Amino acid sequence: MLLDMHDQAGAGEPDNFQRLWTPHRMAYIKGENKPTGTGPDDGCPFDAIPKMSDEEGLIVARGEVVYAVLNLYPYNSGHLMVVPYRHVSDYDELDPAELVELSQFTQRSLRALRKAGGAQGFNVGMNLGHVAGAGIAAHLHQHVVPRWGGDTNFMPVVARTKVLPELLRDTRQALADAWS
Ligand SMILES: [Zn+2]
Repeated sequence: MLLDMHDQAGAGEPDNFQRLWTPHRMAYIKGENKPTGTGPDDGCPFDAIPKMSDEEGLIVARGEVVYAVLNLYPYNSGHLMVVPYRHVSDYDELDPAELVELSQFTQRSLRALRKAGGAQGFNVGMNLGHVAGAGIAAHLHQHVVPRWGGDTNFMPVVARTKVLPELLRDTRQALADAWS
């Protein structure tokens, strides 16, 4: 599942959208140990992250019922996810408060990415279920992937295997500052 720089250099080509959403590249945050359980006690990273500090968990913003977090294995620099605190797999299960704040956080993610990174476009969406390519199907999450022409920007495009912790920390800080 290596993604080399040649791959990244292809960003912006017509097939890019498809490439971005190819299931085998779907992100697993905190990565190596892809959770298979169905409950909060089964190692779900989306349940563990809110218990961490913002810096440790790469959390950009915390809401009442959802939070925004950087993807540890971004498709693009600044790749955010909006996640309900509640361990829920299906969009159909979200309650009204979660639906509203998920939308609000998606909107604020776009704003922060424009402000901090000058994002020119976005891929926004969620994959529900393993068959749809969800890396962590048990806990739904909305992807917000910033795009630039050529996909090169102030936040360097990094390959999945080359994500530097320092870069992620800097990116998180920039987005957290831009959030408010
Ligand atoms: Zn969970």
